[in-house]
Amino acid sequence: MKTYEDLANYIFPEINETIADLEKKYPARNLPEGAEVTRFAPSPTGFLHLGSLFTSLVAHKVAKDTGGVFYLRLEDTDTKREVEGSGDELVRQLAHFGIDPKEGYLGHDVGPYAPYKQSERAYIYKVCIKELMKKGRAYPCFCSAEQLEETRQIQEAMKMIPGYYGEYAICRTNTPDEAIARIEAGEPYVVRFKSMGNHNNKVTFHDEVRGDISIAENDMDIVILKSDGLPTYHFAHAVDDHFMHTTTVIRGEEWISSAPIHIELFDTLGFKLPKYAHLPVIMKLDNGNKRKLSKRKDPEASVSHFIEEGYPREALLVYLMSIANSNFEEWTAENHSYNLDEFKFSFDKMSLDGVLFDQDKLNFFSKEIIAQMSNQEVYDRVYEWADDEFKAKLEKYKKESLAALNIERGGEKARKDYAAYKDVYPIISLFYKEDNEKEFNEIGCQFKPEIPGDVVKAVLEDFKKSNDYSLANDVWFNTVKELGARHKFAESGKIFKQNPEAYVGHVGDVAEIIRVAITCRKNTPNLHDVLVILGKDEVDRRIDRAIASIK
Ligand code: GLU
Repeated sequence: MKTYEDLANYIFPEINETIADLEKKYPARNLPEGAEVTRFAPSPTGFLHLGSLFTSLVAHKVAKDTGGVFYLRLEDTDTKREVEGSGDELVRQLAHFGIDPKEGYLGHDVGPYAPYKQSERAYIYKVCIKELMKKGRAYPCFCSAEQLEETRQIQEAMKMIPGYYGEYAICRTNTPDEAIARIEAGEPYVVRFKSMGNHNNKVTFHDEVRGDISIAENDMDIVILKSDGLPTYHFAHAVDDHFMHTTTVIRGEEWISSAPIHIELFDTLGFKLPKYAHLPVIMKLDNGNKRKLSKRKDPEASVSHFIEEGYPREALLVYLMSIANSNFEEWTAENHSYNLDEFKFSFDKMSLDGVLFDQDKLNFFSKEIIAQMSNQEVYDRVYEWADDEFKAKLEKYKKESLAALNIERGGEKARKDYAAYKDVYPIISLFYKEDNEKEFNEIGCQFKPEIPGDVVKAVLEDFKKSNDYSLANDVWFNTVKELGARHKFAESGKIFKQNPEAYVGHVGDVAEIIRVAITCRKNTPNLHDVLVILGKDEVDRRIDRAIASIK
């Protein structure tokens, strides 16, 4: 009669090492007291979810704040979902946001606990599984997908919890002899964990965000090794976070329900349980209902969306930190700082419920952050982000672009009209001759219909003669008022309203005439700045063009 030890040796003949050997190979980290080891453990499915960026930001921050280590582990055991090359893309996207692990899979392995790609760690998992099997705590399961489905239907009909457990775990009672015979006969199999838990008992664990959590013990004989020789998430989590010496596992709250499985696995393997922090999921309001951000329906579920739109990396991080800690916004206001390094993150300032994605708040932070940059910085970043066509314009009109980006920059009342780099072109393209020409041909100069064409013409002709660029903004504006007065425009909206019959309009209308004539737009940055940047020749050319277009 064969024993479990025989079965383990039969299934894993190539494995000679034990867990004790692995402990020696991957010794504890040499870190000061309180230093946290955290990780980001994405699956390379070709998509960095906003929620994953959030999780990695927090994990990175916790390690940084405590002088610990943040590493990246690539969880690529689900080969069906894997998108070729997306592991490297993930690393690049994270780096774009300044989340730059110093250890882990960074395009290649860096660090003492390599390999950091789970598909290359099969040997390590097998060492652990062999040991569990020797103790009778892991066994091969030969149930086919059809059989499992049948069991599920029976369980459903009887209102039982679906799954492979107790009497439904039929391969659990196979003797080692039977198991070996079936493997010899070529039957495909997976390896399952033999749970000793009881669903009627509760297990309690501490969550850094939520405090103590009590849930039913695990009693499922979960699959730990798939037929392709790779482990499932649950098993790889226990083995990797143990041997890589993670101190706090920071992951999405969707994993809370699996925690009892993990607790039993750590315990059975003889591993110390790490601390857990389950972070809230980012949700969205959809017809009044909260739901998870969906990869399929919501562009904002994907981090690449924010890169494509040109949100400054800092803005997205600051926004995510405002979700992470409820005191963060107050801190930014008090300290006039968006420097995340200066902010002390804490788990107990974290919201427990799914947080709502708030585009307006992201825009608010983003505008603030872009407003604080120098014009050169905005130019450089926009250039880096821009497509070839926009890049060419930025080069050709470098002087004008830089000057345009400098309009009302800095100071208390800085202009805040750019929430993302994509907002720059529609505003500054008025300085690009080709674009302005195109706009003129498409929409022309849409002056206020109430003001007669000959008045508009007269105003523009007068402006051409009287405009003095060298004057300071306020003084210049007074000359516009005077010009208006010469053509029966009130010097303010208020005066106009008191006696509308006496005037054609007011100074705002005069400014609009000039603005529309020159830019074909009703809204632009400060008009005086626009004129100065364009220069007299170009302004005059555009005014002549406008005058000629008035019928
Ligand atoms: N690979 C898992 C995921 O992408 C990681 C969860 C964890 O951080 O443990 O959801």
